[in-house]
Amino acid sequence: MISGNTKLVGLLGQPVNHSLSPVMHNAAMKDMGLDWCYLAMPCEAKNLEVIAKTLLNLNCQGLNITIPHKQNIIKSCNNISPLAKRLGAVNTLIPNKEGGWDGMNTDVEGFLAPLKGKNWNQSKAIVLGCGGSARAVIAGLQNLNISQITVIARREYSLNNCLTYFKKNILESETNSTLLKGLLTTSKNIDRLVEEAELIINTTPVGMSSSNISNNHLSQLPLGEKIWNHLRPKTILYDLIYTPRPTAWLTLGKQHGCEIIDGLEMLIQQGAASLRLWSKNDKIPVDLMRLAAEKYLTT
Ligand code: NAP
Repeated sequence: MISGNTKLVGLLGQPVNHSLSPVMHNAAMKDMGLDWCYLAMPCEAKNLEVIAKTLLNLNCQGLNITIPHKQNIIKSCNNISPLAKRLGAVNTLIPNKEGGWDGMNTDVEGFLAPLKGKNWNQSKAIVLGCGGSARAVIAGLQNLNISQITVIARREYSLNNCLTYFKKNILESETNSTLLKGLLTTSKNIDRLVEEAELIINTTPVGMSSSNISNNHLSQLPLGEKIWNHLRPKTILYDLIYTPRPTAWLTLGKQHGCEIIDGLEMLIQQGAASLRLWSKNDKIPVDLMRLAAEKYLTT
């Protein structure tokens, strides 16, 4: 029950109306006995700074930040974690003792959660797309000591931006032997890379049910249909998308005998990591968050 003591936590982004975060966070917070309420709050870019400041003044206990504000919110933080700094993106705000926001990033932890327990040493990975989530994915893969990451993107400008960013901000600062390279979607070498890869991650919105792409099955496959004839059953396909479940790409992967992972677990685990930071409690009811999210998706 919302009472005079109930405290606010929530999500800032634009749009936020399809977000699963309120459903999973409110289920978890109730179970944890926290008198908090999680709301998804649409926020235009021009209002971001003032809204972040106002929520702090309203004793907000924590915020998630989503598209398109993950970069711009950094200006509203008076401390930012080394990981968020390296990625240039914040997805979690925590009120600090100095009366400001600490900016953190839990996307990498969320991405890595379903990949735990396997030895990735000397494996080869392909990342499709080079936008915001691709940065968290690449940073996560570097933590796994993957030997080679190939980023495949449609635009040379965006690809170069992404690679240059990593060369400047990540690789130079780490004793990391991961080879990071980029290819355009028009390259002829993609077939061979697909055959060799142990892990392929889709970070593009291609295949998402709410994207503007037509419902034609073939156009829902990143890189088109032909390239996936080269898939081997040893390859794990990881799609960051979680609506529909599974995507056309994961369905095709399954037909080739591949292990498939969708984006729901990443979403749940990054949310659980945020809640751990806000509540300073390590015991987060992750199973309950998963159940709440799955139930919501099927209704
Ligand atoms: P983003 O920053 O806009 O990046 C999207 C990337 O995909 C860009 O490289 C873009 O290329 C490329 N792209 C877009 N449309 C394409 C198309 N039709 N063909 C080929 N490439 C295309 O978006 P994001 O934040 O990374 O999100 C990407 C996807 O991941 C979304 O579906 C999102 O829902 C999902 N996601 C899931 C989670 C999770 O927790 N599971 C977290 C974050 C994101 P250009 O640069 O050329 O435009």
